[in-house]
Amino acid sequence: MATTQPEFEHPNKAFGLAARDSSGLLSSFNFSRRETGEKDVAFRVLYCGICHSDLHMVKNEWGVSTYPLVPGHEIAGIVTEVGSKVEKFKVGDRVGVGCMVDSCRTCQNCEDNLENYCPTKTLTYGEKYSDGTITYGGYSDSMVADEHFVVRIPDGLPLEAAAPLLCAGITVYSPLKYFGLDKLGLRIGVVGLGGLGHMAVKFAKAFGVNVTVISTSPNKEKEAIEHLGADTFLISRDQDKMQAAIGTLDGIIDTVSAVHPLLPLIGLLKSNGKLVMVGAPEKPLELPVFPLIMGRKLIAGSAIGGMKETQEMIDFAAKHNVKPDIEVIPVDYVNTAMERLAKADVKYRFVIDIGNTLKTSS
Ligand code: NAP
Ligand code: ZN
Repeated sequence: MATTQPEFEHPNKAFGLAARDSSGLLSSFNFSRRETGEKDVAFRVLYCGICHSDLHMVKNEWGVSTYPLVPGHEIAGIVTEVGSKVEKFKVGDRVGVGCMVDSCRTCQNCEDNLENYCPTKTLTYGEKYSDGTITYGGYSDSMVADEHFVVRIPDGLPLEAAAPLLCAGITVYSPLKYFGLDKLGLRIGVVGLGGLGHMAVKFAKAFGVNVTVISTSPNKEKEAIEHLGADTFLISRDQDKMQAAIGTLDGIIDTVSAVHPLLPLIGLLKSNGKLVMVGAPEKPLELPVFPLIMGRKLIAGSAIGGMKETQEMIDFAAKHNVKPDIEVIPVDYVNTAMERLAKADVKYRFVIDIGNTLKTSS
């Protein structure tokens, strides 16, 4: 008999980790996935990255969470079943799903390959799908999505490295491109050296851009310069160094997850410089207008990227060997990983080894 219990609402059994309330604590969760529809791709999840958005969501920091909530939108795995009308994928293919699983496909944004700005898009978890059921993310053993929202993971790119590209990667690649911050010889700043920030450094370096990291963590300096290839490292609390860097940057990608002052960042920009916000703090930031006016500076936002650009990004990453630095963790470490992520204690992305460590409950 049909019931609204997550475990029985669909025919395919699924198992994962869910938060039950705003404590954000994740624990075992039995639910179900829909039957593989004619345009659907079903896959076995092998790896899932932990995005700071997962942390915001499990703790309901944006005030939009519903429980039980299965997070995870950096999902990589192997196709197990395809619908009869699927054209791009077959069983055994290496695939991924990022932040979206559906959109209207008819609005201007969808027509422009900007499904990420479709007003009625469906996010990968915690949203109502077109069939009325709630979407559950990739901290789980299986996934199903329309092939339009499935990305092909190029050969040579390990699945665990591909996973964080599906959110962290595209979220910084897209604004670097759109705002013209990908031009050889430009000087850009990256604020916050976490999952998104370190990918911004890597993509920017692959584009031939000069990169200044602006960080609160002195312990990240050596590695940022020597390993990530950043050209300059500024500690945001170091007034003298910040002062010396005033007016030096063509653009900034701000990935900070918490409330922080914008004034010093606007100061780092040259005239006509662009400050692009991708970090999503739970409270509004203070916007100092005068320093924007006195330099024709621009402040903007950007959300992930469309499906076409996501595929382009991951193909570029494979071709140019742009890979995230990851700490692969077992499922039973996830709650500890969340605590560490809250303290910016990760270099630079946790990826859950779902395939080897998610044990189905009896
Ligand atoms: P993350 O790995 O935690 O990185 C955030 C970094 O911000 C930290 O590593 C830290 O870098 C810095 N930071 C943290 N707290 C700070 C504070 N109080 N003041 C100043 N700096 C601070 O997070 P993430 O996964 O990269 O995500 C970053 C943000 O982007 C989150 O808000 C997330 O929800 C959002 N996001 C947005 C999109 C989008 O489409 N726009 C997509 C994905 C994620 P340092 O140690 O270097 O200071
Ligand atoms: Zn994310």
